[in-house]
Amino acid sequence: MSGKQGKLVVISGPSGVGKSTICRQAAERLGAVLSVSATTRPRGASEVDGRDYYFLTRQEFQRRIAAGEFLEYAEVFGNYYGTPRRPVEQAIAEGKIVILEIDVQGGGQVKAAMPEAMMIFILPPRMEELMRRIEKRGRGEDAATRQERLARAHAEIETGKAHYEYFVVNDDLDRAVQEVIDIIRR
Ligand code: 5GP
Repeated sequence: MSGKQGKLVVISGPSGVGKSTICRQAAERLGAVLSVSATTRPRGASEVDGRDYYFLTRQEFQRRIAAGEFLEYAEVFGNYYGTPRRPVEQAIAEGKIVILEIDVQGGGQVKAAMPEAMMIFILPPRMEELMRRIEKRGRGEDAATRQERLARAHAEIETGKAHYEYFVVNDDLDRAVQEVIDIIRR
């Protein structure tokens, strides 16, 4: 048994802010575990099952909710997203840093269950820049869904400002990654 203590880090931010890239690079440089979420949303063309997400049917997702298999879960844009509990608990018990890239609803659930979790929120340099990125990304979504993502981005930022502990502006990717690493190492 080592004295090394595990650490749980929640990273949230509005859709299109670049948090996936930040989380991936920070996790790599810290030797941290990046939790792979489950979701019921359709898989994007560049996404790989088991790497980006575990893509599940609604029925299977609901079965796992009932079985208590999620550390947290939330419904976002009409789809479920959740963090499988076991791998997170296991990695923390092994003294590892675990990063969860989840939305603010899920972040609130994690903080309530594990008050020692570090809460980091990624902000866009400017709101217009965020809108441009969401528009560009698309993933074949219709205009209404993109509109919903924009509205949600605003709401996420308001919730984040109220409930998170650390704020990192993604004006420059390398700088933002370094700042996240510095916060986690504190
Ligand atoms: P996307 O569909 O763009 O990959 O993700 C949409 C939103 O769901 C993002 O805000 C993302 O952080 C959030 N999300 C991804 N995985 C999880 C999860 O396991 N739990 C929760 N609560 N949110 C998640």
